[in-house]
Amino acid sequence: MLSTMQDGPLSLAILLEYGATFQSAATVSTWTGDGLRTMTFGELGQESARLANALRSLGVGKDDRVGTFMWNNNEHMAAYTAIPAMGSILHTLNIRLFPEQLIFIANHAEDKVVIVDGSLVPMFAKYLPSLKTVRHVIVANGDAASLEAPSGVEVHSYTDLLASQPDTFDWPDIDERSAAAMCYTSGTTGDPKGVAYSHRSMWLHSMQVCASNGMALSDADTTLAIVPMFHAMSWGLPHASLMAGASIIMPDRFLQPEPLLAIMAAEKPTFAAAVPTIWQGVLARLAVAPQDISHLRDVVVGGAAVPPSMMRTFDDEYNVRILHAWGMTETSPLGSVARPPAGTSGDEAFAYRITQGRFPASVQARLVGDDGSVLPNDGKALGELEVRGPWITGSYYSPDGAKIDPDKFDNGWLRTGDVGTISPNGYLTLVDRSKDVIKSGGEWISSVDLENAVMGHPAIAEAAVFGVPDEKWDERPLVAAVLREGAEADAEKLREFLADKVAKWQLPERWAFINEVPKTSVGKFDKKRLRAQYADGELNVINLS
Ligand code: ADP
Repeated sequence: MLSTMQDGPLSLAILLEYGATFQSAATVSTWTGDGLRTMTFGELGQESARLANALRSLGVGKDDRVGTFMWNNNEHMAAYTAIPAMGSILHTLNIRLFPEQLIFIANHAEDKVVIVDGSLVPMFAKYLPSLKTVRHVIVANGDAASLEAPSGVEVHSYTDLLASQPDTFDWPDIDERSAAAMCYTSGTTGDPKGVAYSHRSMWLHSMQVCASNGMALSDADTTLAIVPMFHAMSWGLPHASLMAGASIIMPDRFLQPEPLLAIMAAEKPTFAAAVPTIWQGVLARLAVAPQDISHLRDVVVGGAAVPPSMMRTFDDEYNVRILHAWGMTETSPLGSVARPPAGTSGDEAFAYRITQGRFPASVQARLVGDDGSVLPNDGKALGELEVRGPWITGSYYSPDGAKIDPDKFDNGWLRTGDVGTISPNGYLTLVDRSKDVIKSGGEWISSVDLENAVMGHPAIAEAAVFGVPDEKWDERPLVAAVLREGAEADAEKLREFLADKVAKWQLPERWAFINEVPKTSVGKFDKKRLRAQYADGELNVINLS
């Protein structure tokens, strides 16, 4: 029997209209260095209509890809809302990618138009001659005349282009299964691969971001969206804000600890989201310039494991709760959030909070062993995490239908490449990425566990651990550590510090002290680069064995 229920499409055009009317008082604001420029969601609706009309006037139609090469700001928010709502496809380009990768991605996605921030024009100008399908470039927040157009490409000023456009648009009916936005993985472990989110997946994902077991966004919140809009859709915050009527603050290019803390001091956001390295920097700044940040009810941290020592510092010294979350570009990205179960407190609750979190109903998860067998969710069995569900990708985008990386899929499940355990009550604990696990004498060492233990030492600002070849054990861990300013510690002392924290055979003998851990385009430890530095003899390695 079929249900009697209506089959209304989950379309981002409907979401935009909702946000712009029934949540019209909420705001999106951009930090300018000393204050905010603010638009209400009502004004965002009008700006989105002007942008959609402008894009239509340039010939952008259904399914055409419109790239963005931008910081988090009001204009990027308008692109997020207008492009999918008009039936075209938003493609966020990661401004921090290596040039070859960026060019590959824009050509692969066949972007027709790119909206570029004025401050990024000098960088974009180097790529533009290699972008084969781009016909129009729109420069926002800057001088369009500063960009020299190759033949066949027209350059426009965002302000001028939108000025004469009507502030209403006849948003089309959209099939909820059609693509709304595209992101490419940042290639931490390989070539970038494209994921195309649907209207349906983004709508359902937004509901999960708003859910109480997700990020619990509501109209009482002001979110500081530090996580870039060019990476994994800013963790779904822009669209979820529209749904919740939550105000959202965009830091633009001011991503260093000082300006982030200045925004917090001025605007007292209730919620913030960023990768651990950003929060490490904020903590280091707070240590020398204390400031009350307890206005933050929750800070979502994910993208890489949160060191428990960092979570403790936020708890004890700043009265701010870190919410640890796991996800990937392929999972929209919200996969799991580490809220402790009701009734737990103290150490028991903390033990849950440092896991990667509990899966919501829409994310099915299982562990698979080396032999392909499905392992029990007993909190002990260690295997590769596989997930499936309505906002998990089922393949990678391919312009010609060729299968890209079919090995990443296992009968409808996405193979995440993450290795861990799942407890009987659905909490994921990641041990490592399968590529980063160190195999020493047939046993596994988690590079993440070692990093967290080393970063628990007061003299250490950050530390990355990776496996290096060893004649006797095949592989052994090497710790690349960064000392805090003015702090002193040597390899011997640090190893002693670890003695009661990790198994004896895991104690690292190889240490290198470096000025900074190299980071990927999205701020994660770049172990590919560290491995290359080691192979090229660039690290000054101390060996205690
Ligand atoms: P990339 O694969 O290019 O780094 P993603 O941002 O999609 O880009 O990265 C997803 C990966 O990040 C996950 O597969 C996982 O390895 C890692 N990750 C994300 N969140 C966490 C977390 N909370 N703890 C540990 N690792 C995480």
